[in-house]
Amino acid sequence: MSSFQFQVIGTVESPYKQKFAIPRQPGLIAEARGRLVLAPPYAEDDIVRGIEAFSHLWLVFVFHETASKGWSPLVRPPRLGGNARKGVFATRATFRPNPIGLSVVKLERVYRRNSNLVLELSGIDLLDGTPILDIKPYLPYADALPEAAGGFADSAPQTGMAVTFSEQANAFCLAQKKHPELALLIEKVLKQDPRPSYKKQRDAEQHYGMTLYHFNIKWTVNGDHNHVTEISQLP
Ligand code: SAM
Repeated sequence: MSSFQFQVIGTVESPYKQKFAIPRQPGLIAEARGRLVLAPPYAEDDIVRGIEAFSHLWLVFVFHETASKGWSPLVRPPRLGGNARKGVFATRATFRPNPIGLSVVKLERVYRRNSNLVLELSGIDLLDGTPILDIKPYLPYADALPEAAGGFADSAPQTGMAVTFSEQANAFCLAQKKHPELALLIEKVLKQDPRPSYKKQRDAEQHYGMTLYHFNIKWTVNGDHNHVTEISQLP
């Protein structure tokens, strides 16, 4: 079997600092903004000439956080409740023979930051620090296939989860000015019910935490209700 070596062309700066609670596909949370930072030798203006004419881009990336954990031929998609097994190539699971991911993201703007080029993106499903191997423009005439069959994931996941904020959490979101979309981002992340499947069957109150940007967010789950109890700034 042949093997090939690729260069990382850039790295993603994302609000998602851990895998838990990242949406399972891009485009589900428009407020999830991130930056793809291209460093030399991939930071030439010429390398992105014409890219702003495209609203969306394909990103080819490495599942770097899980790459060392190997793969198996059968996986249990969370979408199927974590019980049914499907072949790895019938899923978008992160544990694959080649740990390569593919996401369509919205291109917001391109700008220079010192010697780097920055592509500002939205709707991302990428962990902070994700290494990017390639960028290609999204071509609606070839890539959008509304008649295609979506197998076990035929439509976007829906949950009936409600989200409320404590007074402290609400005030925290309003007081910080750097991320005006913070409350909406938290709400949408929690609405997708990021808990592992086996925890969704439990009745007792559950306590969770996650980091978005440099904020520590704590919440409780009671039935189909998420309550954001506390938000604090990480040191
Ligand atoms: N859209 C991509 C695809 O289809 O190849 C990713 C799909 S995968 C099911 C999405 C999950 O990958 C996210 O929920 C997150 O937990 C995980 N993820 C995102 N970036 C990652 C990274 N750099 N390393 C490992 N896992 C990552």
